Amino acid sequence: MKDETKCLHSGYTPENGAPRVMPIVQSTTYVFDSTEHIGQLFDMPTAHMYSRFSNPTVEAVEKKIADLEGGIGAMCTSSGQAASLFSILNLCNSGDSFISTSTIYGGTVNLFSTTLKKLGIECIFVDADADEETIKNAFKPNTRAVFGETLANPALAVLDIEKLARVAHNNNVPLIIDNTFATPLLCKPINFGADIVVHSTSKYMDGHALQVGGVIVDSGNFNWDNGKYPEFTMPDESYHGVVYTKDFGKLAYIVKARMQLMRDFGAYPAAHSAFLLNLGLETLPIRMKQYCQNAMAVAIFLRNSDMVERVSYPGLEGDKYYDLARKYLPDGTSGVISFIIKGGKKAAIKFMDGLKLASNEVHVADIRTCVLHPASATHRQLTDEQLIAAGVNPGMIRLSVGLENIEDIINDIKQSLEKLED
Ligand SMILES: *Cc1c(COP(=O)(O)O)cnc(C)c1O
Repeated sequence: MKDETKCLHSGYTPENGAPRVMPIVQSTTYVFDSTEHIGQLFDMPTAHMYSRFSNPTVEAVEKKIADLEGGIGAMCTSSGQAASLFSILNLCNSGDSFISTSTIYGGTVNLFSTTLKKLGIECIFVDADADEETIKNAFKPNTRAVFGETLANPALAVLDIEKLARVAHNNNVPLIIDNTFATPLLCKPINFGADIVVHSTSKYMDGHALQVGGVIVDSGNFNWDNGKYPEFTMPDESYHGVVYTKDFGKLAYIVKARMQLMRDFGAYPAAHSAFLLNLGLETLPIRMKQYCQNAMAVAIFLRNSDMVERVSYPGLEGDKYYDLARKYLPDGTSGVISFIIKGGKKAAIKFMDGLKLASNEVHVADIRTCVLHPASATHRQLTDEQLIAAGVNPGMIRLSVGLENIEDIINDIKQSLEKLED
């Protein structure tokens, strides 16, 4: 099946007489014939047992997203943050380290540099554009993963995924890619060597600003039996001696994440949230096309404006990341544009407050056009140094182009830019 078809049909196939639409299974628990059967589930989880870590509605969406990404398994989480957290905790214990590119979402920077540090896990930040040798030199003997973002929020830097995959694999660790902005419709990181893919589904996948969520997808490609991951190859005493690589083979990573992390932390989405996410996924292909088309028109308009100092939109010819975008995101680079208005932070805020159609909100990849000032919002906690590393200029505006009529979007931007001239 092609992506458009997968978005509608993967994950749920109704049997004879069953509902056409994937039903919402709103139940905490599940019933079994015998005590023995339930006992067996605690040894080997072969059925839904408790909705803290699995549920049929959520499972259907997990299958759909795994299918879209070209993975063999997925686990939904109650937020993108939980997905990023679990993707690392599944590999790193206190005393371990991992490498991350610095051009990543501000919330992830916080999580990696502050909260994981408190847990004894060190994040070594590297410049995503650095050469392989430099990134290689950042590795330590205790490094257990490499993390990066396909299309960085909000710098809109395109990641050279193949380069990062090579460095990771040469050092026998997996590459984790946050593919939120691209969605599997614009880029499939697994095809370029990523081992694990994470998403904030709160963005384009949901698309309608309805519910916060995340997902982790496992490619099944990484060989965990290389001496660095004893938790995958030795018996798990908290699970009656399960050996993940032996008992679950290629699914070791995603099963371990569910059975250890989701069981213990319980950041699982509600069935109703998964149902809403599925509605978003069904129309994702057609929406992504239109986002890309609208954003390209806006990017061209902004580039031609005298009031604008710089536009970052990797799909736009001449952009710093144009060549990488052609390779990794040939069908478009999403609806997100970042740009710097002449006049710095003050002008940026005046412009944003002057918009009538586009709303000021803490969101991106919404169906409605919205703007945000990263330096005073999502990236507020970052030091000036971190801001620069994350590619965030104090005067930068993140514009998330929605699906309104393109003339209305551009007219709104135009009238607000004109007010700046007064
Ligand atoms: C929003 C976002 C996150 C965090 O996701 P939540 O669903 O808000 O927890 C992570 N990564 C990227 C790239 C994001 O845009």
